[in-house]
Amino acid sequence: MGSQSISNFMSLARKALLAMSTNRWLRERATKTAFVRRSVSRFMPGEHLEDAMRAAVAQQAQGVGTIFTELGENLTRLDEAEEVTRHYLDVMDRVQAAGLRVQISVKPTQLGLDLDKELCFRNLQRLVDRAAARSNFVWIDMESSPYVDATLELFRRARAGSRFVGIALQAYLYRTEKDIEDLLPLGSAIRLVKGAYLEPATIAFPKKADVDENFYKLSCRMLRGDALQAGTLLHIATHDPVLVDRLASFIDQHLVPKSAYEYAMLYGIQRPLQEQLVRAGRPLRVLIAYGEYWFPWYMRRLAERPANIWFVVKNIIG
Ligand SMILES: Cc1cc2nc3c(=O)[nH]c(=O)nc-3n(C[C@H](O)[C@H](O)[C@H](O)COP(=O)(O)OP(=O)(O)OC[C@H]3O[C@@H](n4cnc5c(N)ncnc54)[C@H](O)[C@@H]3O)c2cc1C
Repeated sequence: MGSQSISNFMSLARKALLAMSTNRWLRERATKTAFVRRSVSRFMPGEHLEDAMRAAVAQQAQGVGTIFTELGENLTRLDEAEEVTRHYLDVMDRVQAAGLRVQISVKPTQLGLDLDKELCFRNLQRLVDRAAARSNFVWIDMESSPYVDATLELFRRARAGSRFVGIALQAYLYRTEKDIEDLLPLGSAIRLVKGAYLEPATIAFPKKADVDENFYKLSCRMLRGDALQAGTLLHIATHDPVLVDRLASFIDQHLVPKSAYEYAMLYGIQRPLQEQLVRAGRPLRVLIAYGEYWFPWYMRRLAERPANIWFVVKNIIG
């Protein structure tokens, strides 16, 4: 296969996996199969908070910080959003009591965004207040494109009253460049990611090479003097070794202080690169996911490496 055919195949495989990620029929069956359960364990230490806490202790011993996220999205009942909020409040109490350097990361739809925007904000506010009291930090995940405006609004409102909150932005969206310019004067904590959802070419770069280049360009923007002076904190959230190296060179060349950035990766992905960053003395945080509702999240992880698609599909439906 030529490189163009490989790239077309990868793009199709990614689309197929992302479409499957939202399929309820598949979720209900796939999560019960031993093969899928075995294969997800590569990306998460276990379904329970205790499993994540054990992994965080081990990471801390290696000099690596942690971010926890309880899997779940698009809730349908307000009491579920209350449960999620209480869970994260408890997490912040428990990690502080255990002396762990663990931040939390939460999806707005888990806090009730689809059901009641105001209640979602109040839930977020409760988390941010607890983060301030517990020396913790709340990251707001970015979900698919219909949620971007509402998520930015949540962040702006929370940031107006507290510096213990940050937001994820996606380099695959054309709009992100402007969103960053708007947020920089606030001295924002921004986690830059490539973007994990299926988005049309009208709003997102269809070519991976363009997403990669935009990631580099936007990261450099957030590491420049005026952004740093405003108090920007950048989470460089990628496992891409080329970007990791290019940005390390930029950081060294421009004498960016360690307080202004952290690399961020997912548990179980690119471990050698994680170790390399630690050895080089670069700040690193690893996000650990846990919880029972892992299917869509797991499919998005597979979509990031579609080379395995035939193997996965055969095992799920076979
Ligand atoms: C800390 C963190 C938080 C995130 N939060 C969000 C968010 O809020 N919203 C959102 O849309 N997305 C989020 N993402 C996911 C992100 O958008 C990408 O989908 C994901 O990081 C894969 O892209 P990449 O930058 O690693 O680069 P890629 O170019 O996709 O991958 C680079 C290399 O990393 C390795 N790799 C990457 N992914 C995998 C995988 N799943 N399995 C095995 N190897 C892999 C491969 O070797 C690959 O060649 C987050 C990612 C991280 C690290």
